[in-house]
Amino acid sequence: MKILVINSGSSSIKYQLFNMEQEEVLAKGLVERIGIDGSCLEQEASTGEVIELETEIADHAAGMELVIESLTDENKGVITGVDEVNAVGHRVVQGGKSFSESVIVDEEVKEEIEKWSNLAPLHNPPNLMGIEVCEKLMPHAQQVAVFDTAFHQTMPKEAYTYGLPYEYYEKYALRRYGFHGTSHKFVAQAVAQELEKDLEELKVITCHLGNGASITAVKNGQSYDTSMGLTPLEGLVMGTRCGDLDPAAIPFIMEQEDLSPAEIDNLMNQESGLLGLSGVSSDMRDIEQAAEAGNERAVLALDVFSYRVKKYIGSYVAAMNGVDAVVFTAGIGENGIGIRESICQDLEHLGIKLDSAKNDVRGKVQEISADDSQVKVFVVPTNEELVIARDTEELIG
Ligand code: ADP
Repeated sequence: MKILVINSGSSSIKYQLFNMEQEEVLAKGLVERIGIDGSCLEQEASTGEVIELETEIADHAAGMELVIESLTDENKGVITGVDEVNAVGHRVVQGGKSFSESVIVDEEVKEEIEKWSNLAPLHNPPNLMGIEVCEKLMPHAQQVAVFDTAFHQTMPKEAYTYGLPYEYYEKYALRRYGFHGTSHKFVAQAVAQELEKDLEELKVITCHLGNGASITAVKNGQSYDTSMGLTPLEGLVMGTRCGDLDPAAIPFIMEQEDLSPAEIDNLMNQESGLLGLSGVSSDMRDIEQAAEAGNERAVLALDVFSYRVKKYIGSYVAAMNGVDAVVFTAGIGENGIGIRESICQDLEHLGIKLDSAKNDVRGKVQEISADDSQVKVFVVPTNEELVIARDTEELIG
């Protein structure tokens, strides 16, 4: 069975075509700058063949047509016709309270995705657009929606409820939802496999540290709490997002700087985090380099980032009454040797102790805890696309 996985953003389409027999990626690619100058497509096939195109791509339909042309390209493609694609799995960011698992797309599902757009105005509309374009261009293939929020629907009320007047929850469904669910679920399952235990018997803390970052308490196989909230802004300090903040700071900055709601939203999402703190970059590699060269604000950015993760680990040990394993994933989690070291420093009282030699690893599954560490610590590369492909295969049978 061949499954196409689509992540459709406001001006981009990321895709991977899987052959599910061996769970092999036949080709992956990216369409960028849709509707803007300099739009392009880049595709790499498992054969090593590369397609690079720079051409006008006016909208998502044109982008998707180009994806299909590239996948079926006579010389550099990987399939002979689009009919070979059995199903399409779509990443959808916000499923709200409506979806606790992946679903086959029908009219009702599309209406729900549209309904939750008010909580994810930058993500759900382009996600939905990707679904509708694929329905038209591949009418033979079933479409499946896989939600970032679904895994976290098991959170108990006390974890997802904000201390605001209850009417806002009733009126606007204003509560914590959490994101990166596919990644947290994948790495938690991988850890259970490494430990040769059932995930249902374990308490795991999963740290997804990428450009966007979140941390989840997985108790007995279910998400019990997670650091992102109503939107992906809450929680950890991220590349350009501020994470947790005294909410009173928001009206204060708006008044002092004469900012509109849209402007403060942009400030907190695009100009804060590692970028805002360091003034150097949102990219962890640049921050580490600047810190090594003695840039004090870069050092501060590193310290704030690690300290926030450490605090969340402590709070999730309390929330779950213990922890069996901690796992690091995504760009920083998989590669940030120094960051992992500083996060886990002085956590011996929680039974967490790293082995420096084992921690000297990037981008592969490895246990990195000391032999006498009560809690096992792992690095596990995440693979959200594979989860989407697996869910899609399972649903369409
Ligand atoms: P996203 O998918 O959220 O865009 P990624 O998971 O790709 O993000 O993570 C990007 C982050 O990973 C960047 O901050 C980048 O600097 C960091 N990263 C990648 N490689 C390394 C490395 N070798 N050391 C430290 N950080 C790294």
